[in-house]
Amino acid sequence: MAHPVTDLIHHSYIPPTGFEAPQPGVFKASTVIFPSVAAMRSREWKDKSAYTYGLHGTPTSYQLEERLCTLEGGQQCLLVPSGLAALALVSLSLLKAGDEVLLPDNVYGPNKSLVEGELMHWGISHQYYDPMDPQDLEAQISSRTKLVWLEAAGSVTLEFPDLLSLLRICKQRKVLTALDNTWGAGLAFKPFDLVPDESPALGVDITAHALTKYPSGGGDVLMGSVITRDAGLHMRLKLTHMRLGLGVGMNDVEAILRGLPSMALRYRAHDEATRALALWADSQAEFVQVLHPALPGSPGHAHWKELCVHTFGGAAGLFSVMLDERFTRDQTDAFCDALKLFKLGYSWGGPMSLVVPYELAQIRSNWPSYLEKGTLVRFSIGLEAVQDLQADIHQALGVLR
Ligand SMILES: *Cc1c(COP(=O)(O)O)cnc(C)c1O
Repeated sequence: MAHPVTDLIHHSYIPPTGFEAPQPGVFKASTVIFPSVAAMRSREWKDKSAYTYGLHGTPTSYQLEERLCTLEGGQQCLLVPSGLAALALVSLSLLKAGDEVLLPDNVYGPNKSLVEGELMHWGISHQYYDPMDPQDLEAQISSRTKLVWLEAAGSVTLEFPDLLSLLRICKQRKVLTALDNTWGAGLAFKPFDLVPDESPALGVDITAHALTKYPSGGGDVLMGSVITRDAGLHMRLKLTHMRLGLGVGMNDVEAILRGLPSMALRYRAHDEATRALALWADSQAEFVQVLHPALPGSPGHAHWKELCVHTFGGAAGLFSVMLDERFTRDQTDAFCDALKLFKLGYSWGGPMSLVVPYELAQIRSNWPSYLEKGTLVRFSIGLEAVQDLQADIHQALGVLR
């Protein structure tokens, strides 16, 4: 008989098999136990038919990876600790000294910080292209260009690019494309099959997704994914993923697995409420422009319609307003502070509506001609009743009237 302390660690009880429940179990590990030295020597960390170490996955993370592939239409998936880590993994895996990466001028801000604050020191240069001008992208591709980042729609200014033209240019010039797919989330359009009846399918090479947003849906988990359809490309990313030690916690994986079944319903609810509010906001005099791809006057509306209405369906729960330039910064801050249901905070995709004022002149290299002058305020629409959210914006506008 072993000492009880030992038995607590090496217990002989094994629960009956055959347990089934709607949600998969949570398997947590750093250590994975091998049945023999031979198994330990022969098992490959890259081989997903078995397990080697917690950092390389457990049944819980394997399941989330497969479900995310189904959501986005890819074949292989890597999980990372945040959406930003997903963007970083793609660039770090595919770029080396002497290479250049192209980013849209409306790119998610921290991706700019990454290329300007890290990649540049490693001899990797970058250029910004006008997301609404495919010719500008084409003109900037050189023999050094090894990666083009895409975003649809832009997460602050919400212009929707001509994704098909941008992609055709990159394919023709044989440059890899990576889409930040957080806005579309695998629901607004299918990034690997943008033109479903074209063969081979026209699509991006890689998607990076901030699971922090809609897949989580709670505003309480940070995670990211990198999805591909090409096994060789996946392996390049996977090797860097392993070398950088980018693991995720299985309790967080479980939270995302819990969010996925309701994701399409939530996305639609956010979408409907957002469109109703954006339409109403468009009639308010203080807002000189309302940015949401479903509004006919919003930049890229026709591209959004072509891809997300005629072919697929939907839009994320974000819209931005441009407050008339006659308002001072103190006034626009007072408007944001006066909101009660809309909380001041970053991120989106959760149940609570949020608001953020942006200093657009500081985050864009130039003020695009399609944007009115003023102060941009972005709303992310949660799951509260639309009439309450509308009443909240209406009462906050009182400080400007
Ligand atoms: C939030 C977000 C990210 C980063 O996700 P985190 O998990 O917050 O790091 C990346 N891209 C877009 C478009 C986002 O909105």
